[in-house]
Amino acid sequence: MTNFPTDSVLVLLDVAPDGGLARSAAELLGAAAGIGSAVALILSDSEAHAEAASLLGAETVLLAPPSTGLTIPVVDALAAAVELVRPQAVLVSNSVDGRDAAARFAARTGSALSVDAVSVGRDAEGIIARHSVYGGAYNVDSAATFGPLVITVRQGSVEGRAEAKPMIIERLEVESSGVRAASVNAFEATVSNTSRPELRGAGRVVSGGRGLGSREDFALIEELADLLGAAVGASRAVVDAGYVPQSYQVGQTGVSVSPQLYLAVGISGAVQHLAGMQTAKTIVAINKDADAPIFDVADFGVVGDLFTVVPQLIESLRSRKA
Ligand code: FAD
Repeated sequence: MTNFPTDSVLVLLDVAPDGGLARSAAELLGAAAGIGSAVALILSDSEAHAEAASLLGAETVLLAPPSTGLTIPVVDALAAAVELVRPQAVLVSNSVDGRDAAARFAARTGSALSVDAVSVGRDAEGIIARHSVYGGAYNVDSAATFGPLVITVRQGSVEGRAEAKPMIIERLEVESSGVRAASVNAFEATVSNTSRPELRGAGRVVSGGRGLGSREDFALIEELADLLGAAVGASRAVVDAGYVPQSYQVGQTGVSVSPQLYLAVGISGAVQHLAGMQTAKTIVAINKDADAPIFDVADFGVVGDLFTVVPQLIESLRSRKA
């Protein structure tokens, strides 16, 4: 049986519906490797998953029995893994499933829980999670006074990646807690007729606001996004006006994104919108009002009419591709 280093960080890796590791795996392992020895936990019996995790930097991979049960088997596996590894922290994706598992695990074990961290670090006393709050106006650090800190990490927020490691697999024995779990007997995949990346976790996002003026003109945003290989986002004003579905909404009551590039078009920059995008690495704003608050957070700004600027941008991107 492996002896785990005292600086171990346990990382729960999700298996995506397509059968591979979820995209969050690389950044979770990158974050863990930056603060300790990354130990991956996967509910899978596939060595291909273990190999993928090792390539992404897991020093040891714990394979726990896969299950069709919702959340409870994951929490049982986390409990067994923590008992074995005695990690200093547990990292979980801030996805819907990840938040559910992390919260239940923390409640069951009385552990401290830090949600929606944008980075993790270490100080003299141990591991800390950093959060971007109040629309990104402040950074707040949280830490546990005892026990491993359970941290959910915002997708797309961690840039560091770990070096590949040789594959070391350990099969984890998991004792069922006997807690009743709903189970998935069948699922129907939603057929997506778009090749656009998913908003949450996308590397580039183009978002449109009320400045677009109509559902028809919102097509400009989609055209620009497609040329940039970006996901499409929107302000709440646009969602409320019915131009796009609510799933497009970026902000406090929508999706939080941390892309490399965030292009805000015809968006004023209300604090509730900023809450969902201010951790983007580069923010570009196009707005005809030079005093719009979005320019306070933008790295690059274009003051102008979007109906002039965006078609020119589209034209220029097209001619580069030609
Ligand atoms: P506006 O504020 O109306 O801004 C439109 C901008 O477009 C203006 O700056 C204008 O100068 C510019 N413009 C107009 N025409 C042109 C043109 N031709 N060319 C260039 N620029 C042009 N909002 C969110 O986005 N996400 C949230 O999650 C969210 N949650 C909320 C939660 C609560 C509890 C509340 C109270 C509000 C929330 N809001 C949220 C709403 C938020 O307060 C703003 O009302 C909203 O973000 C405004 O959207 P907007 O920037 O598209 O519209």
